Amino acid sequence: MARKTIGFVPLIWICPSCDTQNPGPIKTCTSCGAPQPTDIQFLQVDEERFNFIKDEALIRMAQTGPDIHCPYCGTRNPATAKLCSNCGGDLSLGGKARQVGQRVKTVSEAEKSEAAPRVTTPEPKKGLSRGAILFGIIAILACLAGAIALMMMLFRTDEITATVTDVAWERSVNIEAYTTVTDQDWWDEIPGGADIRSCKSTYRYTTDQPQANATEVCGEAYVEDTGTGVGEVVQECVYDVYDDYCDYTYLGWVIVDAITETGSDVYPSWPYVALEGDQREGERTEKYQIRFSGDGERYIYTTSDAQLFQMASPGSRWILEVNSLGGVQSIEPYN
Ligand SMILES: [Zn+2]
Ligand SMILES: [Zn+2]
Repeated sequence: MARKTIGFVPLIWICPSCDTQNPGPIKTCTSCGAPQPTDIQFLQVDEERFNFIKDEALIRMAQTGPDIHCPYCGTRNPATAKLCSNCGGDLSLGGKARQVGQRVKTVSEAEKSEAAPRVTTPEPKKGLSRGAILFGIIAILACLAGAIALMMMLFRTDEITATVTDVAWERSVNIEAYTTVTDQDWWDEIPGGADIRSCKSTYRYTTDQPQANATEVCGEAYVEDTGTGVGEVVQECVYDVYDDYCDYTYLGWVIVDAITETGSDVYPSWPYVALEGDQREGERTEKYQIRFSGDGERYIYTTSDAQLFQMASPGSRWILEVNSLGGVQSIEPYN
């Protein structure tokens, strides 16, 4: 969030001795002459709107820093003063600067909080009971034991002698063509040489810092104490940045087709590929499946190893590594 100053407004303080409302910059009560105590906060008079100060000198005063209370007589003095205007005491020896940055209350808010008695609700007891903790530990241990048992089942394998019943293979070749490809991206992410067709201003991200082509989104304005009797009207803002999101085209290789050959023998072959002028062969993939029967069970092994597959003639005998879920981990010919 970026903190933004909108302007400055006059504040007041209420004398605790005689209840008189005094203008913020006035340092001792206009009625009884008592100095403003350190703990008497400034208040905002006008609640509906901000009555912005135009006096440049007063604004500069508010920007020099909080007033200092004299350590001897309590009188407020400007931040720049060295000696107390009332008693001449040295302000650098124990002078107390007023609090700054807190949100200034309005007069009616201050009256309300004074009238309302402070209600303290007892905090609910935090923390878990011993029984709950023990139960949690037991539950975690049970889960761990279950996970370990499952892992052991998956990793434990049995050797089974089995016979090949049948086989299947599938080989395919992608066909690619050099053609116009359409895509979308932010203008600064588009690859060089691409042809930008059209762009639309689109929300991209939110930042704390003001930016070109950003929409400012601000919270409600409020008044902060400067410690001088003048309030600073501030707002927290963020910036929604918009940017060009574009449709573009480029020439590139694109998969346009795949030619597949399948069979149910141990002699796989690559499909015949006829290419046109602007085409080329793309990726080749091969997949083999060997089905077994052994110990009265059926097993399937899938691989991309063509050499191994070609050895798996129906009727040949193999040793299978089978896990407890019936999955075939590996195979080797039985000698
Ligand atoms: Zn007074
Ligand atoms: Zn003094």
